[in-house]
Amino acid sequence: ASKSAGRNRFSYFTPSMQAAALNRMHLINDLRDALSRNQFRLHYHPIVELSSGNIHKAEALIRWDHPVRGLINPAEFVALAEESGMIVEIGDWVFRESVRQVLRLREEHHPEFQISVNKSPIQFRNDDRYFRDWLPHLQQLGLPGECITIEITEGLLLDATESVQAKLLDLRDAGIQVALDDFGTGYSSLSYLKKFDIDYIKIDRSFVRNLTATSDDMVLCEAIIVMAHKLGLKVIAEGIETATQRHLLTAAGCDYGQGHFFSRPLPSHEFESMLKNPIRQA
Ligand code: C2E
Ligand code: MG
Ligand code: MG
Ligand code: MG
Repeated sequence: ASKSAGRNRFSYFTPSMQAAALNRMHLINDLRDALSRNQFRLHYHPIVELSSGNIHKAEALIRWDHPVRGLINPAEFVALAEESGMIVEIGDWVFRESVRQVLRLREEHHPEFQISVNKSPIQFRNDDRYFRDWLPHLQQLGLPGECITIEITEGLLLDATESVQAKLLDLRDAGIQVALDDFGTGYSSLSYLKKFDIDYIKIDRSFVRNLTATSDDMVLCEAIIVMAHKLGLKVIAEGIETATQRHLLTAAGCDYGQGHFFSRPLPSHEFESMLKNPIRQA
């Protein structure tokens, strides 16, 4: 309730809160039909090998092409999809679409190409029906597990049930790689780094944003990179927007980078033409 509601103690919502709640209801409603109406799109964000400038990986990022509102970013609908459980089915679509894309790129001119897919903890905890079909799906297409990386967050590992652990192991057995997204933002415990078999740590954008040679963020990035390498993990830095950030991270030994400095996330045809004519190398 807000003070501007004045004496009317029964008016729980302010007009702007009402508008937000209404907006949310409309979105949830529209979300129900979005899959069957084929309104989801994937954009591809290049993952650049910092030492060479080569691109053999991309992260698939979902967008919702809403008939009235245009392209909607995941920040506006992924939480709604999680709360309503729809994320499970949407996540299955993301997986299959990513697999289709990686197959195409590998068959065309990038036999090594790999794709990274975000998974919400909700999806990981509930998704059994679809999960069981994924590995056979890859096998049928003749794709090795290595071409898929699953991005998860620290929270999932922190309270991982046996069923979550079993799923992670199944993925690992099939060769699928695991990346820890938004590293450093969630929890202070590092014990899950030895408990789980992880391949990549993704340094969160908040550590990269104000990076300078003498900043505390530089100390933290260096420490994360040294620790990761000693544990046998590779490091991906998120949110590289400037040449300075790129150079500092490369000098610190960071393996991969993503960010607007290299490219924005792109629709598949634009992504493919970028692969053919890389814009920025060193
Ligand atoms: P994330 O996985 O950490 O993805 C990185 C986000 O940072 C993306 O936002 C990307 O567009 C943005 N980004 C990358 N480089 C830069 C940069 O240099 N500067 C700035 N300002 N931003 C940059 P996006 O696409 O809006 O996705 C937001 C989040 O939504 C993702 O964060 C991920 O957690 C979630 N998400 C995206 N696609 C999916 C999906 O298919 N399934 C699930 N469950 N979640 C998804
Ligand atoms: Mg991610
Ligand atoms: Mg991230
Ligand atoms: Mg993030």
